Amino acid sequence: SEAIKVVNLKKVYPDGTKALKGINLTIKEGEFCGLMGPSGSGKSSLLHLIAGLDRPTEGNVWVLGREITSMEEDDLAEFRKKNIAFVFQFYYLLEDFSVLENLVIIGQMAGIRDVKRKALDILNFLRLEDKVKHKPSQLSGGQMQRVAIGRALMLEPKILLADEPTGNLDLEEGMRIFELFKHLNQEKGITFVVATHNTELSKFFSRIIRLRDGMIL
Ligand code: ADP
Ligand code: ADP
Repeated sequence: SEAIKVVNLKKVYPDGTKALKGINLTIKEGEFCGLMGPSGSGKSSLLHLIAGLDRPTEGNVWVLGREITSMEEDDLAEFRKKNIAFVFQFYYLLEDFSVLENLVIIGQMAGIRDVKRKALDILNFLRLEDKVKHKPSQLSGGQMQRVAIGRALMLEPKILLADEPTGNLDLEEGMRIFELFKHLNQEKGITFVVATHNTELSKFFSRIIRLRDGMIL
């Protein structure tokens, strides 16, 4: 069935910039989609609207059958927490806390049980077991992104949206992140939409959505 459905989605920013000019799009559960297009084409705006992190000027977004643009802020926050994870180019880790604590704190805020065991399982899966006590500043970029992904996985999302997740990494680190995504897609059935302009990583996608100037090509 449908993971994401977007109908006539438009976004005009307060300064008049028309970032999205009527997007129509359906993504099925279990897809591994790339969102590609030049800088400024609207990738980030589209992902934020699908995640419910911003409100559209016009149009509708259904996520797992629920229309999210008409949801109250509290319901949307609750729905997002249960279903949607977002991974950014910059990792936004808590710098004063260890790798393990970064995962545990998110789990505690979400009221998840057995958080420490769960965090350690995820860090093992991400091959970060020897970094649990490190602070983010002691890690490489690829390792920091893996911690950010681990934090996203604590909430067992059904959909993972990523905005230029390898934009700050070299190709080898980027490949490793994409292999990890692919594995999560295949093993856990998580639906992915990943914005990137790195054409060397596009071979991983099962489908590519191309944006230009706020429209799908
Ligand atoms: P991409 O992710 O493909 O680089 P964005 O969605 O970030 O594209 O941007 C699409 C367009 O919207 C660009 O022209 C960008 O400058 C503009 N834009 C993005 N965010 C804002 C904002 N908060 N205010 C005004 N314009 C914005
Ligand atoms: P990766 O395993 O993600 O490819 P790198 O090859 O960049 O990581 O790093 C190799 C090793 O150097 C890793 O064990 C990493 O923890 C360590 N390292 C990288 N950057 C730093 C840093 N700024 N401070 C301390 N250790 C670092």
